[in-house]
Amino acid sequence: MSDAPVAERRPTDRVNRRDVDTLRITEIFYSLQGEARAAGAPTVFVRLTGCPLRCDYCDTAYAFHGGQRWGMDDILAEVATHGVQHVCVTGGEPLAQPACAALVRRLCDAGYRVAVETSGALDIRPIDTRASRIVDLKTPGSGECQRNRWDNLAALTTEDQLKFVICDRADFDWAAAVCREHGLWDRCPVWFSPSHGQVEPSALADWILGERLPVRLQLQLHKQLWGDQPGR
Ligand code: SF4
Repeated sequence: MSDAPVAERRPTDRVNRRDVDTLRITEIFYSLQGEARAAGAPTVFVRLTGCPLRCDYCDTAYAFHGGQRWGMDDILAEVATHGVQHVCVTGGEPLAQPACAALVRRLCDAGYRVAVETSGALDIRPIDTRASRIVDLKTPGSGECQRNRWDNLAALTTEDQLKFVICDRADFDWAAAVCREHGLWDRCPVWFSPSHGQVEPSALADWILGERLPVRLQLQLHKQLWGDQPGR
């Protein structure tokens, strides 16, 4: 209950506080990190509900809607029950919820090694730089290339990581050109990942080797182990 006199309370006070103190969560689960620098590490995943994008290859559409509201303390307590060092905040698009930045800060303060997976369509600057912000740059083949927020590139640190999901050779050429133009591989690790069912991993490996690109091939470890099961 607010201490403010009734006349001073605004109708939106309660909603604003909910947005700051709570997050809508699809699932919290323990698995192996399947991607990027911490691939293979036992990790707790906090999957936030909702995403404003609709990539053609999306494999987490079940996180677009639903979920349950969790208080910040309850999320921290649930993460702690798993007893691991790595935490990945993912979605959906986690940055679409205003309280995401506070959650990441709380996790960093608690001493976890935190990664945040984001579409690249929202501003990454509010996210604590102690976390590794894994920024997806959407290729033309994703169907959401126009959503890329290019000013995020200037905010990248060496802790961060960039990811391109490659849907075909045209996507590969586009991604290589973007990396060259912005000198991205000099700023942070850059991962090229084949879109499942659209590009053979061996083909993408050949393209990377052929062009001598200083990027890293990323295969989704969790898909090789468990397929497309939610919670894995
Ligand atoms: S940004 Fe991620 S969660 Fe959102 S539609 Fe694209 S792949 Fe799916």
